[in-house]
Amino acid sequence: MSPIFVRLAIPAVCFAAALILRNWFISHGLNNPTEDLTFLLLNLPYILLALSALLALLSEHAVEAGISLCMLCAYWLVQTQLQVPLETQPAGQIYYLLNLLLPCLIFAYAFLPEQSYRQPLGLAAIALAPVIIILLARIMAFDSQLFFASAQQALGNPVFSHLSAASSALYLIVFGVCLGLCIYRQQTLESSLLGCTLITYSTFGWIHLSHISAFMFSAIGVLLSINLIISLLTIGYRDELTQIGNRRALKQSAKNLRGSYSVAMVDADYFKKINDQYGHDLGDQALRVIAGLLRKTADGAKPFRYGGEEFCLLFKGKSRQEVIDTLENIRQAIANYDMVIRDKKHRPRASKQGEKRRGASRRNGDLRLTVSIGVASSDNSGQFDQVLKKADKALYRAKARGRNRVQAA
Ligand code: GH3
Ligand code: MG
Ligand code: MG
Repeated sequence: MSPIFVRLAIPAVCFAAALILRNWFISHGLNNPTEDLTFLLLNLPYILLALSALLALLSEHAVEAGISLCMLCAYWLVQTQLQVPLETQPAGQIYYLLNLLLPCLIFAYAFLPEQSYRQPLGLAAIALAPVIIILLARIMAFDSQLFFASAQQALGNPVFSHLSAASSALYLIVFGVCLGLCIYRQQTLESSLLGCTLITYSTFGWIHLSHISAFMFSAIGVLLSINLIISLLTIGYRDELTQIGNRRALKQSAKNLRGSYSVAMVDADYFKKINDQYGHDLGDQALRVIAGLLRKTADGAKPFRYGGEEFCLLFKGKSRQEVIDTLENIRQAIANYDMVIRDKKHRPRASKQGEKRRGASRRNGDLRLTVSIGVASSDNSGQFDQVLKKADKALYRAKARGRNRVQAA
Protein backbone atom coordinates (compact mmCIF):
# COMPACT_ATOMS: atom_id res chain seq x y z
CA MET A 1 0.00 0.00 0.00
CA SER A 2 1.39 3.39 -0.95
CA PRO A 3 -0.27 6.81 -0.56
CA ILE A 4 -2.69 7.84 -3.29
CA PHE A 5 -0.58 10.78 -4.50
CA VAL A 6 2.41 8.43 -4.93
CA ARG A 7 0.32 5.94 -6.90
CA LEU A 8 -0.89 8.68 -9.23
CA ALA A 9 2.37 10.64 -9.36
CA ILE A 10 4.64 7.76 -10.44
CA PRO A 11 2.90 7.08 -13.81
CA ALA A 12 2.49 10.82 -14.43
CA VAL A 13 6.18 11.51 -13.75
CA CYS A 14 7.34 8.58 -15.93
CA PHE A 15 5.10 9.78 -18.77
CA ALA A 16 6.22 13.41 -18.48
CA ALA A 17 9.90 12.44 -18.16
CA ALA A 18 9.72 10.32 -21.33
CA LEU A 19 8.11 13.19 -23.25
CA ILE A 20 10.57 15.81 -21.97
CA LEU A 21 13.59 13.58 -22.65
CA ARG A 22 12.39 12.79 -26.16
CA ASN A 23 11.81 16.48 -26.95
CA TRP A 24 15.22 17.38 -25.50
CA PHE A 25 16.76 14.61 -27.59
CA ILE A 26 15.15 15.93 -30.77
CA SER A 27 15.76 19.63 -30.05
CA HIS A 28 19.47 18.89 -29.56
CA GLY A 29 19.71 17.72 -33.12
CA LEU A 30 19.71 14.04 -32.25
CA ASN A 31 17.17 13.24 -34.92
CA ASN A 32 19.79 11.17 -36.62
CA PRO A 33 21.86 9.79 -33.76
CA THR A 34 25.01 7.77 -34.22
CA GLU A 35 24.61 4.07 -34.86
CA ASP A 36 25.70 3.19 -31.31
CA LEU A 37 23.23 5.61 -29.75
CA THR A 38 20.40 4.43 -32.00
CA PHE A 39 21.17 0.84 -31.09
CA LEU A 40 21.12 1.66 -27.37
CA LEU A 41 17.96 3.75 -27.64
CA LEU A 42 16.02 1.14 -29.59
CA ASN A 43 17.07 -1.69 -27.28
CA LEU A 44 16.60 0.14 -23.99
CA PRO A 45 12.87 -0.76 -23.71
CA TYR A 46 13.70 -4.47 -24.21
CA ILE A 47 16.31 -4.29 -21.44
CA LEU A 48 14.10 -2.36 -18.99
CA LEU A 49 10.98 -4.43 -19.65
CA ALA A 50 12.91 -7.71 -19.44
CA LEU A 51 14.38 -6.51 -16.13
CA SER A 52 10.96 -5.69 -14.69
CA ALA A 53 9.63 -9.07 -15.90
CA LEU A 54 12.58 -10.81 -14.21
CA LEU A 55 12.06 -8.84 -10.99
CA ALA A 56 8.37 -9.77 -11.05
CA LEU A 57 9.10 -13.45 -11.69
CA LEU A 58 11.72 -13.63 -8.94
CA SER A 59 9.28 -12.07 -6.46
CA GLU A 60 6.43 -14.32 -7.65
CA HIS A 61 4.32 -11.45 -9.04
CA ALA A 62 2.84 -13.26 -12.05
CA VAL A 63 0.48 -10.43 -13.08
CA GLU A 64 3.28 -7.85 -13.09
CA ALA A 65 5.48 -10.27 -15.06
CA GLY A 66 2.63 -10.68 -17.56
CA ILE A 67 2.23 -6.92 -17.99
CA SER A 68 5.99 -6.48 -18.53
CA LEU A 69 5.98 -9.20 -21.19
CA CYS A 70 2.83 -7.74 -22.76
CA MET A 71 4.54 -4.35 -23.11
CA LEU A 72 7.73 -6.00 -24.38
CA CYS A 73 5.79 -7.84 -27.11
CA ALA A 74 3.86 -4.69 -28.04
CA TYR A 75 7.16 -2.79 -28.41
CA TRP A 76 8.58 -5.62 -30.48
CA LEU A 77 5.56 -5.39 -32.79
CA VAL A 78 6.00 -1.61 -33.09
CA GLN A 79 9.67 -2.02 -34.00
CA THR A 80 9.26 -4.91 -36.41
CA GLN A 81 5.93 -4.07 -38.10
CA LEU A 82 5.01 -0.43 -37.57
CA GLN A 83 8.05 1.40 -38.91
CA VAL A 84 6.27 1.97 -42.24
CA PRO A 85 3.29 4.24 -43.17
CA LEU A 86 0.03 2.96 -41.70
CA GLU A 87 -1.51 2.77 -45.19
CA THR A 88 0.82 -0.17 -45.83
CA GLN A 89 -0.41 -3.73 -45.40
CA PRO A 90 -0.36 -5.32 -42.86
CA ALA A 91 0.97 -2.40 -40.74
CA GLY A 92 -2.46 -0.70 -40.78
CA GLN A 93 -4.27 -3.81 -39.61
CA ILE A 94 -1.65 -4.61 -36.95
CA TYR A 95 -1.85 -1.05 -35.64
CA TYR A 96 -5.64 -1.18 -35.63
CA LEU A 97 -5.94 -4.60 -33.96
CA LEU A 98 -3.13 -4.01 -31.45
CA ASN A 99 -4.90 -0.89 -30.22
CA LEU A 100 -8.09 -2.82 -29.64
CA LEU A 101 -6.20 -5.63 -27.92
CA LEU A 102 -3.96 -3.64 -25.59
CA PRO A 103 -6.69 -1.88 -23.59
CA CYS A 104 -8.56 -5.21 -23.29
CA LEU A 105 -5.40 -6.94 -22.03
CA ILE A 106 -4.73 -4.15 -19.49
CA PHE A 107 -8.34 -4.49 -18.33
CA ALA A 108 -7.90 -8.27 -17.94
CA TYR A 109 -4.71 -7.79 -15.88
CA ALA A 110 -6.58 -5.47 -13.51
CA PHE A 111 -8.91 -8.32 -12.56
CA LEU A 112 -6.60 -11.34 -12.64
CA PRO A 113 -6.00 -12.67 -9.12
CA GLU A 114 -2.52 -12.30 -7.66
CA GLN A 115 -0.80 -15.64 -8.14
CA SER A 116 2.61 -17.21 -8.36
CA TYR A 117 3.80 -18.38 -11.78
CA ARG A 118 3.59 -21.93 -10.42
CA GLN A 119 -0.22 -21.71 -10.31
CA PRO A 120 -2.41 -22.11 -13.43
CA LEU A 121 -3.81 -18.56 -13.37
CA GLY A 122 -0.34 -17.18 -12.75
CA LEU A 123 0.96 -19.03 -15.80
CA ALA A 124 -2.02 -17.78 -17.80
CA ALA A 125 -1.25 -14.18 -16.73
CA ILE A 126 2.31 -14.53 -17.99
CA ALA A 127 1.50 -16.29 -21.26
CA LEU A 128 -1.69 -14.38 -22.14
CA ALA A 129 -0.27 -11.33 -23.90
CA PRO A 130 2.79 -12.89 -25.59
CA VAL A 131 0.63 -15.65 -27.08
CA ILE A 132 -2.05 -13.23 -28.35
CA ILE A 133 0.42 -10.69 -29.75
CA ILE A 134 2.69 -13.26 -31.42
CA LEU A 135 -0.43 -14.95 -32.83
CA LEU A 136 -1.57 -11.60 -34.24
CA ALA A 137 1.81 -11.10 -35.92
CA ARG A 138 1.81 -14.64 -37.36
CA ILE A 139 -1.75 -14.34 -38.71
CA MET A 140 -0.99 -11.02 -40.39
CA ALA A 141 2.22 -12.41 -41.87
CA PHE A 142 0.21 -15.34 -43.23
CA ASP A 143 -2.52 -13.22 -44.81
CA SER A 144 -1.77 -9.50 -45.14
CA GLN A 145 -5.25 -8.82 -46.61
CA LEU A 146 -7.07 -9.82 -43.42
CA PHE A 147 -9.03 -6.99 -41.73
CA PHE A 148 -7.67 -4.55 -44.34
CA ALA A 149 -11.04 -2.95 -45.17
CA SER A 150 -12.20 -2.59 -41.55
CA ALA A 151 -8.79 -1.24 -40.46
CA GLN A 152 -8.73 1.36 -43.24
CA GLN A 153 -12.27 2.38 -42.47
CA ALA A 154 -11.63 2.71 -38.71
CA LEU A 155 -8.31 4.50 -39.15
CA GLY A 156 -9.81 6.85 -41.72
CA ASN A 157 -11.87 8.42 -38.97
CA PRO A 158 -9.37 8.92 -36.14
CA VAL A 159 -10.00 10.52 -32.74
CA PHE A 160 -6.50 10.99 -31.34
CA SER A 161 -3.94 11.32 -34.13
CA HIS A 162 -4.23 7.96 -35.96
CA LEU A 163 -6.22 6.00 -33.39
CA SER A 164 -9.70 4.83 -34.31
CA ALA A 165 -12.78 5.90 -32.34
CA ALA A 166 -13.22 2.35 -30.99
CA SER A 167 -9.60 2.24 -29.70
CA SER A 168 -9.88 5.67 -28.11
CA ALA A 169 -13.15 4.70 -26.41
CA LEU A 170 -11.60 1.46 -25.09
CA TYR A 171 -8.49 3.24 -23.80
CA LEU A 172 -10.68 5.86 -22.12
CA ILE A 173 -12.87 3.26 -20.40
CA VAL A 174 -9.84 1.26 -19.22
CA PHE A 175 -8.15 4.46 -18.01
CA GLY A 176 -11.25 5.32 -15.95
CA VAL A 177 -11.44 1.79 -14.49
CA CYS A 178 -7.71 1.82 -13.61
CA LEU A 179 -8.02 5.27 -12.04
CA GLY A 180 -10.93 4.06 -9.90
CA LEU A 181 -9.05 0.92 -8.88
CA CYS A 182 -5.92 2.97 -8.17
CA ILE A 183 -7.87 5.09 -5.68
CA TYR A 184 -9.96 2.26 -4.27
CA ARG A 185 -7.55 -0.68 -4.01
CA GLN A 186 -4.43 1.12 -2.76
CA GLN A 187 -2.01 -1.18 -4.58
CA THR A 188 0.95 -0.42 -6.81
CA LEU A 189 -0.34 -2.77 -9.57
CA GLU A 190 -3.16 -0.37 -10.42
CA SER A 191 -0.70 2.52 -10.61
CA SER A 192 1.30 0.48 -13.18
CA LEU A 193 -1.83 -0.32 -15.19
CA LEU A 194 -2.91 3.32 -15.16
CA GLY A 195 0.52 4.33 -16.45
CA CYS A 196 0.51 1.59 -19.12
CA THR A 197 -2.89 2.80 -20.40
CA LEU A 198 -1.84 6.45 -20.53
CA ILE A 199 1.57 5.79 -22.08
CA THR A 200 0.50 3.23 -24.70
CA TYR A 201 -2.42 5.43 -25.76
CA SER A 202 -0.13 8.43 -26.21
CA THR A 203 2.57 6.39 -27.94
CA PHE A 204 0.21 4.96 -30.53
CA GLY A 205 -1.52 8.30 -30.94
CA TRP A 206 1.84 9.93 -31.66
CA ILE A 207 3.28 6.93 -33.53
CA HIS A 208 4.44 9.25 -36.37
CA LEU A 209 6.88 11.09 -34.05
CA SER A 210 10.43 9.80 -34.35
CA HIS A 211 11.73 7.63 -31.48
CA ILE A 212 8.50 8.11 -29.50
CA SER A 213 8.02 4.38 -28.83
CA ALA A 214 11.59 3.85 -27.57
CA PHE A 215 11.22 6.63 -24.98
CA MET A 216 7.67 5.74 -23.98
CA PHE A 217 8.22 1.98 -23.63
CA SER A 218 11.41 2.67 -21.64
CA ALA A 219 9.23 4.80 -19.35
CA ILE A 220 6.85 1.84 -18.95
CA GLY A 221 9.82 -0.40 -18.00
CA VAL A 222 10.93 2.13 -15.38
CA LEU A 223 7.36 2.57 -14.10
CA LEU A 224 6.81 -1.19 -13.70
CA SER A 225 10.14 -1.65 -11.92
CA ILE A 226 9.62 1.30 -9.54
CA ASN A 227 6.15 0.11 -8.58
CA LEU A 228 7.36 -3.44 -8.07
CA ILE A 229 10.23 -2.26 -5.86
CA ILE A 230 7.83 -0.11 -3.81
CA SER A 231 5.52 -3.10 -3.44
CA LEU A 232 8.42 -5.34 -2.30
CA LEU A 233 9.67 -2.73 0.19
CA THR A 234 6.15 -2.34 1.54
CA ILE A 235 5.80 -6.10 2.04
CA GLY A 236 8.92 -6.10 4.22
CA TYR A 237 7.65 -3.36 6.51
CA ARG A 238 3.93 -4.06 6.62
CA ASP A 239 1.94 -6.53 8.65
CA GLU A 240 0.00 -8.66 6.20
CA LEU A 241 -3.07 -9.19 8.36
CA THR A 242 -3.69 -5.66 9.65
CA GLN A 243 -1.95 -3.61 6.94
CA ILE A 244 -0.18 -1.43 9.51
CA GLY A 245 3.60 -1.30 10.10
CA ASN A 246 5.23 -4.43 11.54
CA ARG A 247 7.94 -4.75 14.18
CA ARG A 248 10.67 -4.03 11.61
CA ALA A 249 8.91 -0.79 10.67
CA LEU A 250 8.74 0.13 14.37
CA LYS A 251 12.50 -0.48 14.75
CA GLN A 252 13.08 1.68 11.66
CA SER A 253 10.93 4.52 13.03
CA ALA A 254 12.65 4.23 16.41
CA LYS A 255 16.00 5.02 14.73
CA ASN A 256 14.80 8.51 13.80
CA LEU A 257 13.45 9.42 17.24
CA ARG A 258 14.86 12.60 18.82
CA GLY A 259 13.94 14.47 22.00
CA SER A 260 10.71 13.73 23.75
CA TYR A 261 8.44 10.90 22.64
CA SER A 262 6.05 8.37 24.16
CA VAL A 263 5.49 4.71 23.51
CA ALA A 264 2.26 2.86 24.29
CA MET A 265 1.90 -0.92 24.30
CA VAL A 266 -1.65 -2.06 23.51
CA ASP A 267 -2.65 -5.67 24.22
CA ALA A 268 -6.01 -7.29 23.50
CA ASP A 269 -7.63 -8.71 26.63
CA TYR A 270 -8.47 -12.41 26.90
CA PHE A 271 -7.73 -12.87 23.24
CA LYS A 272 -7.06 -16.56 23.59
CA LYS A 273 -10.69 -16.95 24.74
CA ILE A 274 -11.96 -15.07 21.68
CA ASN A 275 -10.05 -17.49 19.46
CA ASP A 276 -11.27 -20.48 21.43
CA GLN A 277 -14.91 -19.38 21.40
CA TYR A 278 -15.34 -17.86 17.96
CA GLY A 279 -12.51 -19.36 15.95
CA HIS A 280 -9.24 -18.09 14.54
CA ASP A 281 -10.84 -16.30 11.57
CA LEU A 282 -12.90 -14.11 13.83
CA GLY A 283 -9.80 -13.54 15.96
CA ASP A 284 -8.06 -12.27 12.82
CA GLN A 285 -11.04 -10.05 12.04
CA ALA A 286 -10.85 -8.65 15.60
CA LEU A 287 -7.15 -7.84 15.16
CA ARG A 288 -7.99 -5.96 11.95
CA VAL A 289 -10.67 -4.00 13.81
CA ILE A 290 -8.23 -3.05 16.58
CA ALA A 291 -5.60 -1.95 14.02
CA GLY A 292 -8.22 0.09 12.13
CA LEU A 293 -9.38 1.83 15.31
CA LEU A 294 -5.79 2.52 16.37
CA ARG A 295 -5.15 4.14 13.01
CA LYS A 296 -8.33 6.19 13.16
CA THR A 297 -8.16 7.43 16.73
CA ALA A 298 -4.39 7.63 17.33
CA ASP A 299 -4.32 11.42 16.90
CA GLY A 300 -1.11 11.57 14.90
CA ALA A 301 0.57 8.59 16.54
CA LYS A 302 1.91 5.78 14.38
CA PRO A 303 0.44 2.33 15.07
CA PHE A 304 2.47 -0.88 14.61
CA ARG A 305 1.67 -4.53 15.14
CA TYR A 306 4.28 -5.61 17.63
CA GLY A 307 3.36 -9.30 17.38
CA GLY A 308 0.38 -11.57 18.08
CA GLU A 309 -2.40 -9.51 19.71
CA GLU A 310 0.02 -6.77 20.80
CA PHE A 311 0.27 -3.36 19.17
CA CYS A 312 2.57 -0.42 19.72
CA LEU A 313 1.84 3.29 19.32
CA LEU A 314 4.63 5.80 18.79
CA PHE A 315 3.90 9.40 19.78
CA LYS A 316 6.68 11.61 18.43
CA GLY A 317 7.36 14.84 20.35
CA LYS A 318 4.75 14.10 23.01
CA SER A 319 5.08 13.54 26.74
CA ARG A 320 3.22 10.91 28.73
CA GLN A 321 0.71 13.47 30.09
CA GLU A 322 -0.06 14.69 26.56
CA VAL A 323 -0.98 11.23 25.29
CA ILE A 324 -3.02 9.86 28.21
CA ASP A 325 -6.28 11.41 26.93
CA THR A 326 -5.72 10.05 23.43
CA LEU A 327 -5.04 6.58 24.82
CA GLU A 328 -8.16 6.75 26.96
CA ASN A 329 -10.15 7.63 23.81
CA ILE A 330 -8.60 4.69 21.97
CA ARG A 331 -9.43 2.32 24.83
CA GLN A 332 -13.04 3.53 24.85
CA ALA A 333 -13.38 3.40 21.06
CA ILE A 334 -12.30 -0.26 21.08
CA ALA A 335 -14.45 -1.16 24.09
CA ASN A 336 -17.52 0.49 22.50
CA TYR A 337 -17.04 -1.08 19.09
CA ASP A 338 -19.81 -3.53 18.18
CA MET A 339 -18.15 -6.27 16.26
CA VAL A 340 -20.60 -7.96 13.96
CA ILE A 341 -20.03 -11.68 13.65
CA ARG A 342 -20.60 -12.47 9.99
CA ASP A 343 -19.63 -16.11 10.24
CA LYS A 344 -22.83 -17.84 11.44
CA LYS A 345 -20.88 -20.99 12.29
CA HIS A 346 -19.14 -19.22 15.14
CA ARG A 347 -22.13 -17.22 16.32
CA PRO A 348 -23.41 -18.72 19.58
CA ARG A 349 -27.12 -19.42 19.38
CA ALA A 350 -29.50 -17.78 21.87
CA SER A 351 -29.35 -20.90 23.95
CA LYS A 352 -28.23 -21.14 27.52
CA GLN A 353 -24.81 -22.11 26.31
CA GLY A 354 -24.72 -19.08 24.03
CA GLU A 355 -25.68 -16.76 26.85
CA LYS A 356 -22.91 -18.23 28.97
CA ARG A 357 -20.36 -17.96 26.17
CA ARG A 358 -21.17 -14.33 25.54
CA GLY A 359 -20.41 -13.62 29.19
CA ALA A 360 -18.93 -10.25 30.08
CA SER A 361 -17.42 -9.70 26.67
CA ARG A 362 -20.72 -9.51 24.78
CA ARG A 363 -23.42 -6.89 24.74
CA ASN A 364 -26.21 -6.25 22.23
CA GLY A 365 -25.58 -9.68 20.75
CA ASP A 366 -22.18 -8.84 19.25
CA LEU A 367 -18.64 -9.52 20.32
CA ARG A 368 -16.96 -6.78 22.32
CA LEU A 369 -13.23 -6.32 22.47
CA THR A 370 -11.21 -4.59 25.15
CA VAL A 371 -7.55 -3.68 25.34
CA SER A 372 -5.13 -2.84 28.12
CA ILE A 373 -2.59 -0.09 27.50
CA GLY A 374 0.75 0.69 29.12
CA VAL A 375 2.52 3.96 28.31
CA ALA A 376 5.98 5.36 28.98
CA SER A 377 7.87 8.37 27.70
CA SER A 378 11.48 9.11 26.88
CA ASP A 379 11.69 12.24 29.08
CA ASN A 380 14.27 13.52 26.57
CA SER A 381 16.68 10.68 27.39
CA GLY A 382 16.77 6.93 27.47
CA GLN A 383 17.08 4.38 24.71
CA PHE A 384 13.99 3.33 22.77
CA ASP A 385 14.30 -0.27 24.01
CA GLN A 386 14.25 0.92 27.62
CA VAL A 387 11.19 3.14 27.06
CA LEU A 388 9.48 0.18 25.39
CA LYS A 389 10.29 -2.04 28.39
CA LYS A 390 8.82 0.57 30.76
CA ALA A 391 5.63 0.68 28.64
CA ASP A 392 5.50 -3.12 28.72
CA LYS A 393 5.81 -3.17 32.52
CA ALA A 394 2.99 -0.61 32.76
CA LEU A 395 0.92 -2.86 30.49
CA TYR A 396 1.41 -5.77 32.88
CA ARG A 397 0.21 -3.53 35.71
CA ALA A 398 -2.88 -2.62 33.67
CA LYS A 399 -3.56 -6.34 33.19
CA ALA A 400 -3.03 -7.08 36.88
CA ARG A 401 -5.41 -4.28 37.87
CA GLY A 402 -8.27 -5.83 35.94
CA ARG A 403 -7.62 -5.05 32.21
CA ASN A 404 -9.50 -2.61 29.92
CA ARG A 405 -7.50 0.33 31.30
CA VAL A 406 -4.65 2.73 30.56
CA GLN A 407 -1.65 2.62 32.88
CA ALA A 408 1.23 5.09 32.90
CA ALA A 409 4.75 3.89 33.77
P1 GH3 B 1 -4.40 -11.28 28.33
O1 GH3 B 1 -5.64 -10.54 28.60
O2 GH3 B 1 -3.63 -11.64 29.53
O3 GH3 B 1 -3.56 -10.60 27.31
O4 GH3 B 1 -4.85 -12.67 27.70
P2 GH3 B 1 -4.70 -13.17 26.24
O5 GH3 B 1 -5.51 -14.39 26.06
O6 GH3 B 1 -4.97 -12.07 25.30
O7 GH3 B 1 -3.15 -13.48 26.17
P3 GH3 B 1 -2.37 -14.78 25.75
O8 GH3 B 1 -0.93 -14.35 25.56
O9 GH3 B 1 -2.61 -15.90 26.69
O10 GH3 B 1 -2.95 -15.21 24.35
C1 GH3 B 1 -2.75 -14.48 23.20
C2 GH3 B 1 -3.55 -15.13 22.13
O11 GH3 B 1 -3.52 -14.38 20.91
C3 GH3 B 1 -3.01 -16.50 21.78
C4 GH3 B 1 -2.96 -16.53 20.29
O12 GH3 B 1 -3.63 -17.63 19.79
C5 GH3 B 1 -3.67 -15.27 19.86
N1 GH3 B 1 -3.10 -14.73 18.65
C6 GH3 B 1 -1.86 -14.25 18.46
N2 GH3 B 1 -1.70 -13.86 17.18
C7 GH3 B 1 -2.86 -14.11 16.54
C8 GH3 B 1 -3.31 -13.93 15.20
O13 GH3 B 1 -2.59 -13.44 14.30
N3 GH3 B 1 -4.59 -14.28 14.90
C9 GH3 B 1 -5.40 -14.81 15.85
N4 GH3 B 1 -6.63 -15.14 15.49
N5 GH3 B 1 -5.00 -15.01 17.11
C10 GH3 B 1 -3.76 -14.66 17.47
MG1 MG C 1 -3.69 -10.36 25.31
MG1 MG D 1 -0.08 -10.53 24.72
